[in-house]
Amino acid sequence: MKEIDRQMTIAGPCAAESREQVVKSAHMAKERGIATLRASLWKPRTKPGFDGVAIQGIEWLGEVARLGLRPATEVLTEDNAKQVIDSVSGKLGREVLIWIGSRNQNHFIQRNIGRLASGEKLVKILIKNQPWVSQDHWMGIIDHVISGGADPNQIILCHRGFAPGTNGLRNNPDFLMAMRVKKESGLPMLIDPSHMGGERKKVLEIAKLAQDFKEDGIGFDGLMVEVHPNPDQALTDKTQQLTWEQFDQIGK
Ligand code: PEP
Ligand code: MN
Repeated sequence: MKEIDRQMTIAGPCAAESREQVVKSAHMAKERGIATLRASLWKPRTKPGFDGVAIQGIEWLGEVARLGLRPATEVLTEDNAKQVIDSVSGKLGREVLIWIGSRNQNHFIQRNIGRLASGEKLVKILIKNQPWVSQDHWMGIIDHVISGGADPNQIILCHRGFAPGTNGLRNNPDFLMAMRVKKESGLPMLIDPSHMGGERKKVLEIAKLAQDFKEDGIGFDGLMVEVHPNPDQALTDKTQQLTWEQFDQIGK
């Protein structure tokens, strides 16, 4: 099993819940040499419930950046993207990663996020696949973001699986499609085993499979994994968030 690429890998809680939780997570990631900490301020939810601390947590992302990590958060609107870019790369001059999640399938928003990132060397955009199976649609999201003005060098892709999941999975992987999209776009491709597995044991199994996977000599460039200081108390996705000790098992 090859070591995970810590520069490319994104780990951290599903949602930012408190300053303490975010700062603690940042220290855990830093100790492990993980470059990017995920902690979403805005969460799309299937049903009403906790949907993120929103702008209240923006300072926490700044603290993550000051600790020397790149903070990463999902953005649902161009307003969200603008607030994050202004406060991390604008005000602090630090790198930030914003991502377009699987449910954000409005091409006006995708394009406007590309426009906001245009010329912003400190801003990276991660694009996840949409929930339904379609290579063409996934490629289309990339085109929309680039048509807004983002440079391909700013873009990273992430395969999070397709709904509905079968055989006990939350979402079904399609490693071969992910490799085709990687080849066709020429962009790096991460894998998110958390939203595929839906529960800790399966998350670890998929992470291992993905790490061993190679098609024509190409594979995934890194992982995006949900890791929480206390998963059982997590406000979102508690069954799939790993402890940092479990995260350490990946790549062993
Ligand atoms: C997430 O990464 O927190 C998330 C909501 O994922 P997805 O968009 O893949 O469902
Ligand atoms: Mn999640």
